Amino acid sequence: MKDCIFCKIANKEIPKEFISEDEKFLAFNDINPKAPIHVLIIPKNHVGPVNTLSEDNNKLISDLILKAKEVAKQIGISENGYRLIFNVGRDAGMQVNHLHLHLLGGKSLTWQ
Ligand code: AMP
Ligand code: ZN
Repeated sequence: MKDCIFCKIANKEIPKEFISEDEKFLAFNDINPKAPIHVLIIPKNHVGPVNTLSEDNNKLISDLILKAKEVAKQIGISENGYRLIFNVGRDAGMQVNHLHLHLLGGKSLTWQ
């Protein structure tokens, strides 16, 4: 999708070091980390945010979560734990209109 920053990253128009890449997903470090480890996992093809999803996206969503689990293991935070977040819409401060799952960890995370 034109003017989508994550599509540009997926299309390699914006150079980015990937933590993980397969045929469907990419994982890379968030540019503005909110924890010692803050990785974004995105589908390579443009998919809208959670409030645009339907049952047609069931497989993609479960694969995305399983990819996050795999990346957590790969970067060594699986045992200590981590947080997975989807921001949805204005009140959540969502900035990017391309589905992405935040993977946060590397410390004991607060919950308020
Ligand atoms: P959200 O608020 O859920 O839409 O999250 C979007 C996230 O993308 C934010 O945490 C941003 O810091 C992050 N972000 C935006 N542009 C980039 C970029 N070029 N590379 C890495 N992360 C980015
Ligand atoms: Zn996109």
